[in-house]
Amino acid sequence: MSQELADTMLDDQPQKEKINLLGLSASRLSEFFEEIGEKKFRATQIIKWIHQEGECDFQKMTNLSKDLRNKLHEIAEIKLPEVVSCQESVDGTCKWLIRVDGGSCIEMVYIPERERGTLCVSSQIGCALDCSFCATGKQGFNRDLTSAEIIGQLWIAADSFDQFSPKAKRRVSNVVMMGMGEPLMNFDNVVDAMSIMLEDNAYGLSKRRVTLSTSGVVPELDKLGDVSDVSLAISLHAPNDELRNELVPINRKYPLATFIQSAKNYIEKMPDNRRKVTVEYTLMDQVNDRSIHARELAVLLKDLPCKINLIPFNPFAGSGYKTVTNTALNRFRDILMAEGYTVTVRTTRGDDIAAACGQLAGEVNDRTKRQERYKKKLNDIQPLNIME
Ligand code: SF4
Repeated sequence: MSQELADTMLDDQPQKEKINLLGLSASRLSEFFEEIGEKKFRATQIIKWIHQEGECDFQKMTNLSKDLRNKLHEIAEIKLPEVVSCQESVDGTCKWLIRVDGGSCIEMVYIPERERGTLCVSSQIGCALDCSFCATGKQGFNRDLTSAEIIGQLWIAADSFDQFSPKAKRRVSNVVMMGMGEPLMNFDNVVDAMSIMLEDNAYGLSKRRVTLSTSGVVPELDKLGDVSDVSLAISLHAPNDELRNELVPINRKYPLATFIQSAKNYIEKMPDNRRKVTVEYTLMDQVNDRSIHARELAVLLKDLPCKINLIPFNPFAGSGYKTVTNTALNRFRDILMAEGYTVTVRTTRGDDIAAACGQLAGEVNDRTKRQERYKKKLNDIQPLNIME
């Protein structure tokens, strides 16, 4: 065979895709090293390099032999999503726009507080659950993020705060899976990414500082307690099925009683019995903010160890909802507190840099055609085309 022909044939061979080690949990990395004929302890070395040292170049991993570095270079990679922009608010809130494979963008937010810094991470591009008050839901759904794209968000934030060096001034101390997407609809990748967050040889976050927030994918929530013990937040937003069916359509499949029982089962599986579920309740003017709703909520949650986080609705174009008034917010909070609940009110942060969650990422390449329907609805109700 001529050399030319051989070269052509080689060129025609499909390039074997490199495996991205960024999103592999400690156990998956061990399996990977075993499969390539290496000792399992290499997994610990690599996970430390990537997630504690912030190193993505195999050639700089000096405790690996040269042969192993070359081998890894051939078959593997450490590939991060791309940062499109990062804006910082006067209050220290940071918002990133991040491009993932396929060209779509997701968003990530860091909220500094006195004693902690919380990173809000996305799990999907868009969301299929279509909650009526959610800007992300209106964008439709494109795909699940890979575990590398999920943990890559934490890596990016850590890197931008110089957290891989001991002199870091800011750190991510808490992670909430509350960005774009419903985390339990992307179960395996989210569980893998969270296990890297908790892993001592990676970020070493405590299970109390990693929170998964769900709108009520009950079968997956029932499974979660078998593989993870992170903190749980449930997005309720309504105290009865009739209203919740309108606001959070997945409620039609898994009604409130089933959802709350599943959340209760989850925390009962935890080895420490002092855990509480965080109940998230977005307050919208004249929709779910009345005294009767607060009283109903108090009854609904009476058997669930929980604290309640009230979130004033953050309006977006065409949502059709208005935010709660201060009077209604205070009244709602006071009724719950009088019933003995711990209640916090989420303050709006980073007002000067972007709008509500889901409005920064631009248009999702929507496979659900929901965007089309939503735009049509907007055009029908608003002659000015505000989406353009
Ligand atoms: S609130 Fe959460 S689950 Fe509902 S549409 Fe928005 S991102 Fe999806």
